Amino acid sequence: MAVRTRFAPSPTGYMHIGNLRTAIFEYLVAKKDNGDFILRIEDTDQNRKVDGAIDFIYKTLELCHFKIDEGPNNPGKVGPYIQSERKAIYKEYAEKLVSMGAAYYCFCTEEELDRQRKVAESRRIPFMYNGKCSILTEEEIKEKLDSGIPYVIRQKMPKNGVTIVNDLVYGKIKIDNSILEDQILLKSDGFPTYNFANVVDDHLMGITHVIRGHEYLDQTAKYNLLYQAFGWQEPTYIHVAMVLGEDGNKLSKRNGDASFMDLYNQGYLPEAIVNYLVLLGWSPNSNQEIFSMEELIQAFDPTRISKSNSQYDVKKLNWVNAHYIKNMDDEKYLEYIKPFLTNAYDLSNKTDEWINKLLLTYKSHISYGKEIEYEVKWLFTEELEMDQECKDFMLSDDSIKNTLKIFLDEIKNINNWDSTEINNCINITKEKAQVKGKLLFMPIRIACTHQMHGPELADTLYLVGKEKILKRLEDYNENI
Ligand code: GLU
Repeated sequence: MAVRTRFAPSPTGYMHIGNLRTAIFEYLVAKKDNGDFILRIEDTDQNRKVDGAIDFIYKTLELCHFKIDEGPNNPGKVGPYIQSERKAIYKEYAEKLVSMGAAYYCFCTEEELDRQRKVAESRRIPFMYNGKCSILTEEEIKEKLDSGIPYVIRQKMPKNGVTIVNDLVYGKIKIDNSILEDQILLKSDGFPTYNFANVVDDHLMGITHVIRGHEYLDQTAKYNLLYQAFGWQEPTYIHVAMVLGEDGNKLSKRNGDASFMDLYNQGYLPEAIVNYLVLLGWSPNSNQEIFSMEELIQAFDPTRISKSNSQYDVKKLNWVNAHYIKNMDDEKYLEYIKPFLTNAYDLSNKTDEWINKLLLTYKSHISYGKEIEYEVKWLFTEELEMDQECKDFMLSDDSIKNTLKIFLDEIKNINNWDSTEINNCINITKEKAQVKGKLLFMPIRIACTHQMHGPELADTLYLVGKEKILKRLEDYNENI
């Protein structure tokens, strides 16, 4: 059977990186077998729905280069692909279950359920619907339906025995049927619960592999009972542990945890985000860490997904992203990085040559796009303070004064202000002052840039500009 997986987000307007990682796993499982990747929008909880969220899901998948084989915008044969448009289907299947005796109408009011809940609370036992409506007679049901009393449809659970769930990651799990509540399948507003819709949809859409968060694992026994009641084949389950935030807590929008779009807007590259996320909770059969999509499709083996939660680690993400930046071709890099500079600084009196040189000089120094703004701030700051570390260094050796004097004389004579000429001056200074290494580079860097560290020295001095360099070196000579 051809592999079919689905990404089934709820359109709540926020896709945290844990959701995206699930989508990646789903995509890889499908593509590894030349299968189909399906997008299904799970909007049955209408209260959580956010306008525009579907576009945002599309945008994320598109930026990550996940081709959607079937979805709301390119339906296949098993649509609609938005759950709120499938209400009639859920009703039909819920009623089918009722007629087969695997579900029943429940007319209990909220007040009645609250009363039951309170009794459970007072006895300090978890609340479980007591099945009161499961014993209504045909006549009683008909009478209530005819008089228009609101109802829900509940799944009738077996009272004893066990239900087995086989999961590719967690293995075989046995759930005692006695702990399974007669859960609601169809709500009184006609919307299905997730617990019902996922089964009906996964079956009707021909989903072969269900990959989702492990918070659904315990519930899966109930889903299997539904598959069994309908006589349907269960899919292969792949439940995946959580991605926790940097603080070790659950990722949440409220805690300001990174969503894909936040990362994208900060200049993390979608390919790098995907590469980073796939290694959160999955490990390849080798120690390779950087993967192209084709390599991932080849290497991905869902049995190597970890059972334990993983923790989002921005340092590792930065490392992966920096790798992708370094490997971009220069033209593409400039196109990507320039907006971050333009948004932060007034470049109206800068030449394109200067701007491009700046961006390329920092190419191997930044981990994500917006970092360029912080890294080059000193170049746009008129009054640069030297910190104590710099000041201490400048007093640390007797040769420094002489080195800088020589360098100033050399720099003055440059006609054509470029990195090659500046480098020549550095080399001549080396010869004349008879200093090398740290005692050559550090005094020059500190005097000219007021910084202890930075990219390649000659390129950096070029960026500062001749006028400013001369002024800083002269000020130094005067003040010493
Ligand atoms: N709509 C569910 C969620 O966003 C999807 C769970 C699933 O993949 O079955 O958590």
